[in-house]
Amino acid sequence: MLIKNIKVIKFHTILLVFLILLVLLISFVLITFVSAGESRFHIMEWSNNNEPSSKEEEKKKSYIKWFEFNVSYDVLVKTSQLDINSHTKNEEVKFNWIELISYLACKYGNNFDKFKSKDLDAVVARLKAGETMDEITKDMKYYSYYFEGYDSALHEFIGEYQIQKNTTASTPPSTSVNNSVADEVGTGFTTVYGLKAFHPIAKNYSYSHYDDFGNSRSYGYKRLHFGNDLMGSIGTPVIAVESGTIEALGWNQYGGWRIGIRSFDQKRYYYYAHLRKDHPYAENMYEGKIVQAGDVIGYLGMTGYSAKENVNNINIPHLHFGIQLIFDEVQKEGPNQIWLDLYALVDFLKKNRGEIMRGNPETKDYVRKYEIIDPIVPD
Ligand SMILES: [Zn+2]
Repeated sequence: MLIKNIKVIKFHTILLVFLILLVLLISFVLITFVSAGESRFHIMEWSNNNEPSSKEEEKKKSYIKWFEFNVSYDVLVKTSQLDINSHTKNEEVKFNWIELISYLACKYGNNFDKFKSKDLDAVVARLKAGETMDEITKDMKYYSYYFEGYDSALHEFIGEYQIQKNTTASTPPSTSVNNSVADEVGTGFTTVYGLKAFHPIAKNYSYSHYDDFGNSRSYGYKRLHFGNDLMGSIGTPVIAVESGTIEALGWNQYGGWRIGIRSFDQKRYYYYAHLRKDHPYAENMYEGKIVQAGDVIGYLGMTGYSAKENVNNINIPHLHFGIQLIFDEVQKEGPNQIWLDLYALVDFLKKNRGEIMRGNPETKDYVRKYEIIDPIVPD
């Protein structure tokens, strides 16, 4: 009996040891495989395109899933001045404001509350001394991410374009202090390098706004506010901020009479909502039409929050202004849309407010006062 028991215990012990060894072996094999797979994934994620990779991994790395537009007003002003002055004064070293912003975003982890002028001065000094931004940022892991994000947002805001000369000569041809005349072309147009994006509210019309991005909204379903509301008088002309193609026009339950304009590079979708009851749009607006930065596109109102068309259900007249970033078309209508916090950018755009005048006296429509030729507009 005792011997038999000892034998049984012995057998059980051997079995237990065997099982433990088996479990250890399986764990070891599993861990090896998983970590190998992981490191393979990491390599593919950061590797060049010539590296073979599965379709899923290709998709994963090919576009940005999330981006926050956190650059402050102060940094927008300082970097844009460096960019514009270096071009218009034909300085030896030309600055790119988007590179400067991306460098600072990297340095501060995209928290621009940390901004110090001396940091910007330091990088400017290095660039002036002959270093390139590639060299300066070579060890900054997220520089390319921030550059792609800020470039996608601001790509067409500063650049060269032509604007109609002012024939009355007493006021400058452009409304912006930042634009300076670079070249006379003798065709009634002047070539300028400067801020070519416009403020969404026409010049000489007052408005107020505050940083309302991410505030909660309760109409329809619980959601967040993804834009900036500009409170003003009903009928205030609304201006196209950037040139592009009208992609959406008409009634929308939330936005009321609204207009959606896509940039030519497809990366920015501009959304202007709650336009005026009865007469929401400027003359001859339709889906597919190309508009230029500075064109009058519609009129501020208080429509929306109604399934029924042409209803004023918004309490305070305002323009809802939004910009959506689209790195991949699946993001346009998908659940993970990227909308920008525009409060600082709207303040910055005050440097270029579009002058308008009465157009058609019968329809009481307004039109822009000075034509521009934007080189990005297709013929
Ligand atoms: Zn709004």
